[in-house]
Parts: sequence; structure tokens; C-alpha cells
Amino acid sequence: MILPIVKYGHPALRQKGARVSAVTPEIRQFVEDLLETMYDREGIGLAAQQVARPLQVCVVDVRQVKERPSTLEVKGEAQDIAAFMPMTLINPELTPVGEPVSGPEGCLSFPEIYADVTRPSVVDVRALDLKGQIMEFRCGGLLARAIQHEWDHLQGILFIDRMDQENKEKIRPEYQALQAETKKELAAAKKAVVRAPSLRPA
Ligand code: ZN
Repeated sequence: MILPIVKYGHPALRQKGARVSAVTPEIRQFVEDLLETMYDREGIGLAAQQVARPLQVCVVDVRQVKERPSTLEVKGEAQDIAAFMPMTLINPELTPVGEPVSGPEGCLSFPEIYADVTRPSVVDVRALDLKGQIMEFRCGGLLARAIQHEWDHLQGILFIDRMDQENKEKIRPEYQALQAETKKELAAAKKAVVRAPSLRPA
């Protein structure tokens, strides 16, 4: 099922996700829905917060972006990225390893808004997979960037928080307009809910 993606200005994007205590059939269905939603919007990552469900769950698939390579190592050995995609990360923990690098980023909760963000080039990742098993790996390139972007979402952090002032300034009018639009939509939806009972016959 394709889920609606919430945009900047929605309070769910600022909520820290609850840890998942067990990978239940419900969680697996939720992950399936996250993947379907991400592919529908041609994204390379999607976090639970972006569909207004603050849980420590995100999905990533970098296969389609050939011009921005990724690396993945398990116990020091290079792996075939495709074998790990799509990737589901549950309760992920990250340890930065590499030097910070700048690169372009977008976000499905900020449609059409792109800017450079500086992040560590390599990270160590420890997370539960869809089977509830611990996976540990080191990644670099686009995959490292995507996983850090998604991990941020799980903490309620957004890519605009990670930008330097200059880059943030460039897109400020765009994200402020988006925030205003989202808040207006939320207020209208709230009003509709309040009004609804009066429509019922007494
Ligand atoms: Zn995002």
C-alpha cells in the first residue's frame, strides 16, 4: 500500500522514533508499504517519520543511482551492494568513520528542494534486519549519505539542520513556503474534523 508522505511543517518529522522491540508481521507489512511508497516516488530512502509513524525503521535502495557509487564492507571485505538492496534498517546505530564530505541531497518530505550537506564519508552501521537479526557493516559513498540522512529522520533531525548557513540560506524561502503550506493544510484538516460532528442529525 502506498502511504501518504508528510512534508516539512508536519510535526511527525520532528518526533524521535520509538525503538522496535520485535519484528512482528505488522512491522514487516509496514516495511513493505514503506518500500512501495519509496519506489513510487523514486526515492532512494524513506523513514517511518515521513509517513507519520515515528518508529526506528527506515528503508534504503541506492541501486538506481549509477553515477554516485556506494561501497559496503562486512568484516573488511567488499560486498556486492545489490545483494543488500533493498535494505531495511531497524533500530540502527551509526558510528562515523570517514572524513566529512559535501554532496547534494534531496528529501521526499521537501519536494523539489536540493542543497549540499556535509557528512562523514564512511560510517559503521549496526541494525536489525527484517528477520530481526543483527547486521553490521561499513559503508561509503551514496549509501553512507543515504543511511545518515535516514538515521537523522529517525531522531527527528532534518537535512536542513545539517546544512551550513550559506547553503541553508539559499533554500530558506523554499522550505519556509513549504512549511507554511503544510501548516495551512493541517489547520484546514483539523477544522474539518471539528466541524464533522455538527453535520450529524441530532
Ligand atoms: Zn529525507
